[in-house]
Amino acid sequence: MARRREDSEPVTPAELARVDRMRRDFVANVSHELKTPATSLQLLAESLLEVLDDDPGQARFFAEQLKSETGRMNQLISDLLDLARLESEEGVPDPRPVDVRSVLMVVLARMRQVARGKEIDLRWKRYGEASRYIIEGDETQITSMFTNLVDNAVKYTPPGGVVEVIGDAAGGGISVSVSDTGIGIPRDKLSRLFERFYRVDKARSKETGGTGLGLSIVRHIAEKHGGRVSVQSAPGEGSTFTVHPPRR
Ligand code: ADP
Repeated sequence: MARRREDSEPVTPAELARVDRMRRDFVANVSHELKTPATSLQLLAESLLEVLDDDPGQARFFAEQLKSETGRMNQLISDLLDLARLESEEGVPDPRPVDVRSVLMVVLARMRQVARGKEIDLRWKRYGEASRYIIEGDETQITSMFTNLVDNAVKYTPPGGVVEVIGDAAGGGISVSVSDTGIGIPRDKLSRLFERFYRVDKARSKETGGTGLGLSIVRHIAEKHGGRVSVQSAPGEGSTFTVHPPRR
């Protein structure tokens, strides 16, 4: 873990420049990411107006596109807000006992329908007694962390594949892994995966409605809970993301 800076330690000009560069990059990235859906919304609204009186079929098509593009933009904004909140808070503000096992069951129940729609076999295994699945943390954040991982696994796995969630509280602490038999990730891309807005395949991510912020949110939440997240993957074979939270 990085050493915390003492209040009396001076901030070096190089460090200030680095923070400023990061801030500028972030603002540029956010503007770019918002500009794309905003342009689509405008074009779709113009197209809708053009056909509104004469072609109800086309008008419906544009209205539906408008709806889904608005949904994407909303998702992006709420991911950005989540990330901003995670970055501004020190640790977990109000930790309470959370049952990781029941969180996982809720996440799986919510994802089951999407998985079924893609003919993906969503499985769940658990090792260790139920009582060992309790950690101190924020239930909403932990739910969001696992939802992101399972959602990605389903998203990046072609129909007929398998997604398996394994909880292991049998050893020291609890680890949860989400494995899929999906498209996998090239080795040279693994190190950048948890950066904001990073996508391995931009076109595919856009197609599946991704914001490129999910894994960044996952990493923040894992670290806030004193844990970490790791990934193993091979193109064409699948990926395994593992969250290692601390002991109770
Ligand atoms: P996105 O919203 O694009 O899914 P994420 O931050 O959740 O953004 O993930 C970043 C990128 O990592 C994705 O765009 C995708 O390329 C890759 N990725 C994440 N999870 C998986 C997975 N289970 N299998 C293959 N690639 C993945």
